[in-house]
Amino acid sequence: MPSDTAPRPVILTGDRTTGPLHLGHYVGSLRNRVALQATHAQYLLLADTQAMTDNAHDPERVRRNVLEVALDYLAVGIDPALSTICVQSALPALAELTLLYLNFVTVARLERNPTIKEEIQARGFGRDIPAGFLCYPVAQAADITAFKATLVPVGEDQAPLIEQTNELVRRLNRQAGRDLLPEAAALIPAIGRLPGVDGRGKMSKSRGNAVPLSASDAAIEAAVQRMYTDPDHLRASDPGRVEGNVVFTYLDAFDPDLQAVADLKAHYRRGGLGDMVLKRRLTGLLQATVTPIRERRAELARDPDLVMDILRTGSAKGRTLTEQTKREVTEGLGLFSL
Ligand code: ATP
Ligand code: MG
Repeated sequence: MPSDTAPRPVILTGDRTTGPLHLGHYVGSLRNRVALQATHAQYLLLADTQAMTDNAHDPERVRRNVLEVALDYLAVGIDPALSTICVQSALPALAELTLLYLNFVTVARLERNPTIKEEIQARGFGRDIPAGFLCYPVAQAADITAFKATLVPVGEDQAPLIEQTNELVRRLNRQAGRDLLPEAAALIPAIGRLPGVDGRGKMSKSRGNAVPLSASDAAIEAAVQRMYTDPDHLRASDPGRVEGNVVFTYLDAFDPDLQAVADLKAHYRRGGLGDMVLKRRLTGLLQATVTPIRERRAELARDPDLVMDILRTGSAKGRTLTEQTKREVTEGLGLFSL
């Protein structure tokens, strides 16, 4: 744990403002962020500029969700006294660094990025990929380095993006002839990525398979009922498969009683344990996780001015910091400056 005098290690994470946050965010990243805010200098970015890379047809969605995601942050326990929440579009240095960094990466390298490949496919872009979308890993590198973050708590889908950031950092440092920027480590939870309730691909705001953190008890129950188990497990007495069974994946992510989950898995494999028992347990666990978040969120939503103040203060702090880094990078590269 850092002492009070030593500078705290810097964390940068963010979320695209494409919709309210969901259970995948909770296990993938938010839980870590809440835990780490006491020991780290943590910055959270409401990534509205990045959200535009696949939402140019719907800027209203991107705008509206800035406040929605901010409410989710506060509702899960992000404390503005410990963490700084910034709006990406309010920090022009991020866009300037992006423009500069684009010259240090090739289009071929961007096309090879496995996350980008998967997301292009999931969004059905075919060959009509918005240029901003293909290049968003560069913008993400600008975000991470502008804050000089060394730790990035993200879901497993983001690992190739952190790798690409570090490649860029090494390239820039080589060009500058010194360690201008630090490399960053991804902090990926054991669960990796939470699948969607349909069991196909990751839970995602953009794929219609998400359970939002503001879901009602009834919506949670309905989502769990729809969850994919083992299609060959027709009768409770049949032996069942645990691997690829979405309900077990969720129990692994949300059930604090590891021994009970291990026992349930053994019982399911042996046969004699029905899907309904598992689904009831999971429904209860998810409702217990979401209810306090939903209630706190509803309370906060009554005071949008307070949330706006938090965003204004956080963005002002982020603006100063990122502007400073941009100056260091342009000077480090030996570029002209007035
Ligand atoms: P979109 O569909 O708009 O891309 P998203 O649901 O993928 O939205 P992002 O804003 O892209 O969410 O991701 C924000 C953070 O949440 C990232 O760190 C990402 O790794 C993590 N995350 C998103 N979905 C999941 C998931 N299903 N499981 C674990 N982590 C996730
Ligand atoms: Mg995403």
